[in-house]
Amino acid sequence: MAKYTGPACRQCRREGVKLFSKGERCYTEKCALNRRTGAPGQHGAARKKVGEYGKQLREKQKAKRYYGIPEKQFRTYFEKADAKEGMTGENLLCLIERRFDNVVYRMGMGESRRDARQLVVHGHFEVNGKKANIPSMILKAGDVITVKETSRKSEKIKSLVENMENRTSPAWLEVDKANVVAKMVALPKREDIDFPFEEQLIVELYSK
Ligand code: SF4
Repeated sequence: MAKYTGPACRQCRREGVKLFSKGERCYTEKCALNRRTGAPGQHGAARKKVGEYGKQLREKQKAKRYYGIPEKQFRTYFEKADAKEGMTGENLLCLIERRFDNVVYRMGMGESRRDARQLVVHGHFEVNGKKANIPSMILKAGDVITVKETSRKSEKIKSLVENMENRTSPAWLEVDKANVVAKMVALPKREDIDFPFEEQLIVELYSK
């Protein structure tokens, strides 16, 4: 499936839940979900009955859209999660949570995951002192994320650093806000992910 390039708010309306793709705006009255409910499209509000398959599909779409992951990559994460010991659904979410773009967002850089992904692609960060610009890279415990020295002078980065004060980070990520350094001190656990996913539905969908 091709990468989605349409309006972010449309995806939230489709899933009926805030996916927080637009930073500050998502927390204000301007959020499209505060103004319009129901799926987008002419018959959006009328679509009500959802069968078992529909629920599973929506849950998978929700997770993909929340993290901004294309279908093929999401499927690959599922296969990796399935091959690991433990609950596949939990493995899947915990694996995705370790994506570089998500970790950058969790450390407080970027107004949204989309924004964080752009920052990564533009090469503003280093991992363990080395250039890193691949958003899908999976980080591991002990990895250290820093802002590149030259990027620290950028107005965009300076403003994001100021905003870090208002952000909280998960327990698995130790953030030194003064120096804009984050260290993954542990692997994320299911209870660290506060979004209400029903990951079992995704497992059921892919296990058909
Ligand atoms: Fe979703 Fe944010 Fe748009 Fe609200 S403002 S609909 S949460 S992307």
